Amino acid sequence: MQRTVPLGQPTVGEPELAAVAEVFASGWLSGAGPTCVAFENEFARAVGTAHALTTANCGSALHLALQVLGAGPGDEVIVGDYTFPATGHAVVWTGATPVFADVRPDIWSADPAAVEAAITPRTVGILAVDVFGQPADYDELRAIADRHGLWIVEDAACAAGATYHGRPAGSLADLAAFSFHGRKGITAGEGGALVGDRGDLMDQARKLHTYGIAPAVTREGEATLPVPSFDEAGYNYRLSDVQAAIMRVQLGRLPDLLAARTRSAQVYAAGLGDLDQLTLPVALDDRTHPWQSYVLTLDPSLDRGRVALALREQGVGCNFGTYASHVQPVYGTPAGRECPVSADLFHRHLAIPMHANLTDDDLTHVVDTVRAVVGSDAVRR
Ligand SMILES: *Cc1c(COP(=O)(O)O)cnc(C)c1O
Repeated sequence: MQRTVPLGQPTVGEPELAAVAEVFASGWLSGAGPTCVAFENEFARAVGTAHALTTANCGSALHLALQVLGAGPGDEVIVGDYTFPATGHAVVWTGATPVFADVRPDIWSADPAAVEAAITPRTVGILAVDVFGQPADYDELRAIADRHGLWIVEDAACAAGATYHGRPAGSLADLAAFSFHGRKGITAGEGGALVGDRGDLMDQARKLHTYGIAPAVTREGEATLPVPSFDEAGYNYRLSDVQAAIMRVQLGRLPDLLAARTRSAQVYAAGLGDLDQLTLPVALDDRTHPWQSYVLTLDPSLDRGRVALALREQGVGCNFGTYASHVQPVYGTPAGRECPVSADLFHRHLAIPMHANLTDDDLTHVVDTVRAVVGSDAVRR
């Protein structure tokens, strides 16, 4: 039977199930409980920030970040264009306008020169994306932000375990948002976290993430009967304690999961690096790549759709990379605001299998199949 190698796959099993069983036994399954608090302390330590807040997903963490930083109607937030549109959507949710900046052709995060060129008197902040987990150019972005009095939010959805100049992803901006969706490096199926150093912002976010009051866990064990009152219309953006239990185990496994992905990336680079029909992803020396995805840039002479179908027919999972945001109809990006590098990547990128469960035989099958497919005349335009 033909080998089938999925594009992505979570690495979860008995240790996560045992942790879930403990939460069941404790009786506290809902969100913002003791298991969330324990995970938040561990996660903040891991990413090098003073505070962490678990959230339902990365989108809700981004929304909270932008809201507590004050983004609202009439404001513009500059967003790295090449990303999953949760990034742009979070700006829209606040009433502010996302202004998309084109990206670097090598690592696909916001080009600092494009960011600076997009600044107007209405700009309030920069939302930088660590594309497929590799950190953006935070030194350059910080210099721009300081010159213009802007804040920076890091979309670190894919970046758990990555570093930039020796500092962990999550500690590189004023606030950062992670995703624990099933396609990310550590996962509880769904989930997210907001991290940062500023206690005032994180306290505001914590309140907003539980409908606008302090979480119930803070009222446990009080001698009186505190009755909270609502002074703002917050949301239910909580992670459940069941998910937090899974995340505590996943965080402990992160070094092993990263090592497995890094090894697969090395095998791909050695096996595909000589092909003229594609360009390998670039991992810069001054930062570490957590390899949330492994994305090839196909030569324009290839028909990506045909390449993808041929790979899938032979059991190799694949997909396009991620999205050019500015072409998404929801944003109504005006003419003259094109991001040509991002638009080109959107058409030429092809993600091949990357997860922590790939075996030597899987990797051999992917390398052999990609080599055969991109070399065949049937996939040429
Ligand atoms: C996956 C992803 C998101 C959205 O994460 P959710 O947890 O599904 O909200 C946001 N930004 C980027 C860059 C992503 O890759």
